[in-house]
Amino acid sequence: MPIQSFIPPERTLMGPGPSDVSPRVLSALARPTIGHLDPMFIEMMDEVKSLLQYAFQTKNTYTMAISAPGSAGMEACFVNLVTPDDTVIVCQNGVFGARMIENVVRIGAKAVVVEGEWGRAVDPKALEEALKQTPQATFVAFVHAETSTGALSDCKTLCEIARKYDCLTIVDAVTSLGGVELRVDDWGIDAVYSGSQKCLSCVPGLSPISFSDKAAEIIKNRDSSVQSWFLDQSLVMGYWSGQGKRSYHHTAPVNSLYALHESLVMLQNEGLENSWVRHQAQHKKLAAGLESLGLEFIVPEDERLPQLNLVYIPEGIDDAKVRQFLLTEYNLEIGAGLGKFAGTAWRIGLMGHTARNENVLLCLAALKEALAQ
Ligand SMILES: *Cc1c(COP(=O)(O)O)cnc(C)c1O
Repeated sequence: MPIQSFIPPERTLMGPGPSDVSPRVLSALARPTIGHLDPMFIEMMDEVKSLLQYAFQTKNTYTMAISAPGSAGMEACFVNLVTPDDTVIVCQNGVFGARMIENVVRIGAKAVVVEGEWGRAVDPKALEEALKQTPQATFVAFVHAETSTGALSDCKTLCEIARKYDCLTIVDAVTSLGGVELRVDDWGIDAVYSGSQKCLSCVPGLSPISFSDKAAEIIKNRDSSVQSWFLDQSLVMGYWSGQGKRSYHHTAPVNSLYALHESLVMLQNEGLENSWVRHQAQHKKLAAGLESLGLEFIVPEDERLPQLNLVYIPEGIDDAKVRQFLLTEYNLEIGAGLGKFAGTAWRIGLMGHTARNENVLLCLAALKEALAQ
């Protein structure tokens, strides 16, 4: 029997990403593939750049999408900016902060870790204390929206503090972009990366990034070459911003970029602020419903991510069985706990296209039935 075509089931994705992809984005993906140096495609890439500038709220010239998932965006920021002479203060309050530390260590730079509590926002006072004690620090890195814990940190304040001590900021906005307020220019973020499959509700595999002029200057003036050829932004810059004469660096994921373009057009049509408000409104509905089912939130109310809800798994309830029930009976995916919360929490996502009334109702009804069994 030869292997047959793969026809995936239709699921509702309420985990930590990927989130539901709108039919508009899926049909954009199916449009004819054209050459990645075709003038029409280059025009579209320019539109992706300006749509991303809108989503990030930035005028940064160096704003584009890395042809790889969020983790590559993270790595691109670190390997291009940080050299072995640097000292990077990393605020860690979950799984993704640990990956930032790993990036710094692999570069051979010094990582000074500000340990935060899992399930809480990064403490600005702890950052300031670390900066006082580390005058040689050159960068501050932190995760805006920690997808492993559901905590939202005060990006604006953390950037202000970093600037006061002459440090550049590297911010993980993988889960925050499109879901909560994020203002790259107003808040003075120097390097930021995101992912296509969280609140942008595009297919996975692309990582929007943006560098401030200061950060772009550092990249241009490096003495040593970036150890990663593929992620070396001084080379990629010629491809994404070659001012009319783009040169080949790698083959852009043509159809995935159609999809990103469409998802960003949808965000623009909805309005960025409206998208933030929608995520918050759906979160309120979901939170009220979860609490009425007796489920307890992990993160204090004013530090919660609307797009990712962490609740403790009640005593005596079988984690895997509940998630299996939701998947097989309702085609509904919710996320398992990660890191310190593995086995003790569920992560219920309301990202992008998923953040709609019908999904909140479905999730609450299905969970109620699962818990009753
Ligand atoms: C998902 C996620 C990443 C990694 O993105 P991938 O697309 O899975 O590589 C990084 N940081 C945060 C906060 C995330 O939620």
